[in-house]
Amino acid sequence: MPLPVLFGIPYDASSSFLRGAAEAPPAIRQALRSTAGNPWAERLVTSTTTERLEDRGDLALPPTPEARGLIESAVAELSRSSRPFIALGGDHSITYPILRGLRAQEPALTVLQIDAHPDLYDQFEGDRFSHACPFARIMEEGLADRLVQVGIRAMTGHGRDQARRFGVEQIDMRAWADGARPSTSGRVYVSIDLDGLDPAFAPGVSHREPGGLSVREVLTLLDTLGGELIAADIVEFNPHRDVGGLTAEVAAKLAKELAAQFVLESD
Ligand code: MN
Ligand code: MN
Repeated sequence: MPLPVLFGIPYDASSSFLRGAAEAPPAIRQALRSTAGNPWAERLVTSTTTERLEDRGDLALPPTPEARGLIESAVAELSRSSRPFIALGGDHSITYPILRGLRAQEPALTVLQIDAHPDLYDQFEGDRFSHACPFARIMEEGLADRLVQVGIRAMTGHGRDQARRFGVEQIDMRAWADGARPSTSGRVYVSIDLDGLDPAFAPGVSHREPGGLSVREVLTLLDTLGGELIAADIVEFNPHRDVGGLTAEVAAKLAKELAAQFVLESD
């Protein structure tokens, strides 16, 4: 298996409510490297030392629309060299240029999104590239063959209409509580908006929405993921909103277990 890559996308200029997510990558990296824990994933198949997960640092990005093209080309380069990767956001707007960068090499792609919000707005406050809109752009451009959303609990009528229009599969929190679980296969991209977790577990987000997933539920979801994980992002961590560094630790934990998933698949 080609060595997986970790890199940061310090961009939050498409956030609608609060800035701060651009400061997430160094905070997550610090938690990942903290000597309070160890770099091993739970299944002991890999560790996040730099020998096992190449850390390419953060992209240099302006807080302008030009950032999207830079994100897309950085991802296209990784994709052409078949490198699995974990991207540390950044606000959720970055997932759209990431998938644009992947699509040329990924003709059949399932996207699993963990999020309190569907992020399917046609536009938000006049911005079609807001962090409230990336999955509308992704589906319009056919960048995902399937979009499966888990953790949804902040829908609107417009969001429901958009989900129907694009054929989005949603397991909202009520369905989750009833036992529904996603089924994925083939090549899979995972996008984790940390507000999909309950704010009790991940308070460091701009849009806290009670009634969400536990850390263990998300870990189990990753552990039992069907198909082949090719890449992932962890977005919407806002260090300004964190409590005692807790959310940074959660993001680092998720990065570790995602890295393990790359290895398990190559066995
Ligand atoms: Mn969200
Ligand atoms: Mn989101």
